[in-house]
Amino acid sequence: MAFRTSGAALFMAAIAVLHAPQAVAVTCPAQGALTGEFAPNGIDTSTISRTIRPGDDFFGYLNQGWIDRTPIPEGYWDYGQTNVLMATVDARIRGLVTAGEGGAPGSPARQVQDAYAAFRDTAAIDRRGLEPFRAGLDAIMRAGTAEDVARRMADPSSSTLFAINVFPAEGRWLVHLDQQNQSQPMLGLPNREAYEQSDAASAANRAAYEAHIATLLAAAGMADAKARAARVVALEARIAANQWDFARLRDRKANYHPMTVAELTRYAPGFPWRAYLQARGVGHVTDIVLGTDTAVQTQARLFAATPLDDWRAYLAFHWLRNQADVLPQALRDSNWAFYGQTLSNAKAPPPRAEVALRLVNGAMGHLVGRLYAERHVTPETRAAATEMVAYLRKAFDERLSQAAWMDEPTRAEARAKLAAMTLKVGYPKVWRDYSGVAIQSDDAAGNLRRLRQSDWDIQRQRLKPGAAGELWYQTPQTVDASYSVLMNAIELPAGYLQPPYFDAAADPAVNFGAIGAIIGHEMGHGFDDQGIIYDSRGRLRGWWSDAALKTFHDRAQALVDQYDAFSPYAGVHVNGRQTIGETIADLSGVSLSYRAWQMYMADHPCADTSRDGLRGDQRFFLAWAQAWRYAAPESAIRHVIKYSYHAPTPYRVNGVVRNLDAWYAAFGVKPGDALYLPPEQRVRIW
Ligand SMILES: [Zn+2]
Repeated sequence: MAFRTSGAALFMAAIAVLHAPQAVAVTCPAQGALTGEFAPNGIDTSTISRTIRPGDDFFGYLNQGWIDRTPIPEGYWDYGQTNVLMATVDARIRGLVTAGEGGAPGSPARQVQDAYAAFRDTAAIDRRGLEPFRAGLDAIMRAGTAEDVARRMADPSSSTLFAINVFPAEGRWLVHLDQQNQSQPMLGLPNREAYEQSDAASAANRAAYEAHIATLLAAAGMADAKARAARVVALEARIAANQWDFARLRDRKANYHPMTVAELTRYAPGFPWRAYLQARGVGHVTDIVLGTDTAVQTQARLFAATPLDDWRAYLAFHWLRNQADVLPQALRDSNWAFYGQTLSNAKAPPPRAEVALRLVNGAMGHLVGRLYAERHVTPETRAAATEMVAYLRKAFDERLSQAAWMDEPTRAEARAKLAAMTLKVGYPKVWRDYSGVAIQSDDAAGNLRRLRQSDWDIQRQRLKPGAAGELWYQTPQTVDASYSVLMNAIELPAGYLQPPYFDAAADPAVNFGAIGAIIGHEMGHGFDDQGIIYDSRGRLRGWWSDAALKTFHDRAQALVDQYDAFSPYAGVHVNGRQTIGETIADLSGVSLSYRAWQMYMADHPCADTSRDGLRGDQRFFLAWAQAWRYAAPESAIRHVIKYSYHAPTPYRVNGVVRNLDAWYAAFGVKPGDALYLPPEQRVRIW
C-alpha cells in the first residue's frame, strides 16, 4: 500500500502506470451494443423534455421525463439512479446467497449461506430468546468500576463515546480516536436536533424512544426500567451536545492531532483510556491520532461526571439495540415500531429474507463481494475501467502542467501527488480471510458478533510491522466510489461499473460523461480545499506557495458564491461553504473527464461520433445528467441542504455544466438562458 512502500518505489510504480503504452490501434468504439433501458448507446433519449431548454435547466431537460414516469417507491424518501443500481446489486446478491448448496464447509459460499440461513431463521432466534445476549448483559450489570464500563465499551458490538479505527498517518498505521462512530453508534436518535428541538413532533419522538428503551431494559431484567430509560435519553442529549457540528467536522487540520497515549490521558482525563485500549486489543500502542479533540475531551469529562448506573443502563440498551435484528420477536417488534414506524413512517416491516440479506451484506460484505466479483465482474470490465482511469490521470497531469497560476515547486508537488495516487478498480487483489470466523447456521447473534469482532481484528492486524495486503474500505458490490486523503487512494468498486455509469461495450462519450467524471470527482478530492493540505504520502503538510494558494481559494470562493445563490424554495439556499469540497470535486471531475475523453478519442479515432442524432460532446454531458436522475419531495431537498456535504442533485448537474465552455458549445447555450454565465464568471479549478 501507498504509505508502506518507500516513496521512491511508489513514485516509480505510479509513473509506470502513467506511461504504460496505450492501445493505439485504430478501433472505433462499438456502436449500439447495449440492450435494455439505455440501449443502444447509453443515453435513454426517451426522457428528454420538449419544453425545458438545456440552457435553462440541464438537469430537468434530460431528467424531467424520468421523474414524471417514476413514482418514489414505498420505503424511500428520495429516489435516484444510484438507488436503481443498488436494487440491481441487491438482486444479484440475493441470487448468490440463496443459490443452492455452497460447497465445502468453511468455503466463502458456504459461510455466506450459513450466515444467511441463521439470520433468516426467526423461529430459532425466537426459541433462544435472550440467552445469546445474556453473557454480555451480565457483564454490563456487573461493571462496578469506571474501568469495567470502559472495557464493556471496547466490545465492537457495544456503543461507546469514542470512535476507534486504524488508519494510516505519518507514513504508518495508527489508532485514530474521535467522536463519530459509524460501526458503534453512540446515539439512538439520528442527530443532535432530535434531542433538542422543542416542537411537538420531536417531543413525541423522544417519548416514543424513551418507551422503547424502557421495553428493552425491562426485558434485560433491569429494575426501574422507566426511570433508567429517562436517564439514558438525558445522557444521550448531553453526548449529542458535545459533538462537533458539520462545518467543523470537515476541517481536517482541526481533526488531526498526533499524540502519545500518555498525552491523551492528560489531555482528556476522566475516561480510563488504558483499560479501554487494553480491552480493545491495542493496549500496546504508544502513539495515536486524535480527531475532534475538544469533543473527545468533553466526552471524557462527561464520562467521569455520570453515575456508573446510568452507563450500565446506556450500555444494556445499546447492547440489545445494536443487535436488534437478531433479538427475539417482541423486542424486534418494539425496535421496528420505533425506528420503522415512528421515526421513518414506514407502513410495514421488510420481509425477513430482506433483513437477512442486509445483515449478510453488512456483516460479511467482503465475503459476499468475493462471490459477487467472481460472478458479475468480467476481466474486460475491469481492464476497460482501468484504461479509463489512466486517461483521467493523463488529463489531470496535463492540466497541472499547464496551470499558469501555479508556480513550479507547487506544480511539481501536485504532479507527484497525482502520480502517487493509488487507483483501485473493481475489487481487491487479495481477499479478506474469514476462514477463522466460526459461522453457524443456528447462531445468528453469535455470528453477528464474531463478524464484527473480525472486522476490528482485520484493522488491528495492520498495526503489526510488515502487515501486508491491499486495503479496501468499500466492498466490491458498493454503488459508490471514494478517495482517502490519508492513503492518497481511490476506490472504484465494481457496483458502480454498470450502465448507465459504465459499460465496456458502450459509447465512450457516455462512459467518460458518467463513470469517468466520477473517477475525476474522486481524484479532485485529492486537490479540493481539504485535499490540498495533504501531500503525496497522505501527510498533513503545507506544500502550497502563498500565491498559488490564494488563487486556489479565490476560485473556490467564486464557486461558493455561485452555489450560495441556488435557492429551490423561498428563503432556502444551498450552503456553498458546506458543499465546497464536493463541488470542487464535481467540477474537476466533469472537466477532467471531458479532456480525458478527447484524449481517448485521439487514440481511438473515428470519423463520426454522431449517434441517435446526438454528437459525442452532447452525449458526454447528457451522461453526467443521466447519472444523477433523481426524484425527491421538498422535505428531502431541505434535509440534504442542511445535512449533506453535497448540494442537492439537480445543482450537481446544473451548477457544474454552466462553468464549462464545452457545454455551451454542445447545446448552443446563449446569454439570456437561465444557467448562462459570461466567460469571465465561469470557474475553473482543474
Ligand atoms: Zn465526493
